[in-house]
Amino acid sequence: MTYDPSNVFARILRREIPAPLLHDDEHCVAIRDIAPQAPLHLLVIPKAPIRSLADATADQSTLLGHLLRTGAALAQKLGHADARLVINNGAGAGQSVFHLHVHVLAGRDLAWPPG
Ligand code: AMP
Repeated sequence: MTYDPSNVFARILRREIPAPLLHDDEHCVAIRDIAPQAPLHLLVIPKAPIRSLADATADQSTLLGHLLRTGAALAQKLGHADARLVINNGAGAGQSVFHLHVHVLAGRDLAWPPG
């Protein structure tokens, strides 16, 4: 599907909306979720305009791995060796912002299966 550059994460990446960056590298940034669902709730956001996980191409596989590794490393750095990384892939799976992002949740008991 078509990528819509008016989404909130694209605006954060363009610095049109202020958001402190906990991490910023060539490929991604990390911010705190505005409505945290756990004591630690980060979002790792690729700089590339990818609408959803399903839209990522094979040549973006390394980038996808980088997002996961960055999220886990950030959680660890912030004192959470155990963390849950989640990607909501599509509206039916809970995706509300259509720019790919990885949720990083930690700091409380996380039930399984997730709701
Ligand atoms: P999802 O439902 O998986 O698409 O996740 C989108 C997430 O973005 C939600 O957890 C929102 O709370 C979060 N969010 C929306 N707007 C902002 C914002 N301006 N800054 C930080 N997080 C946001």
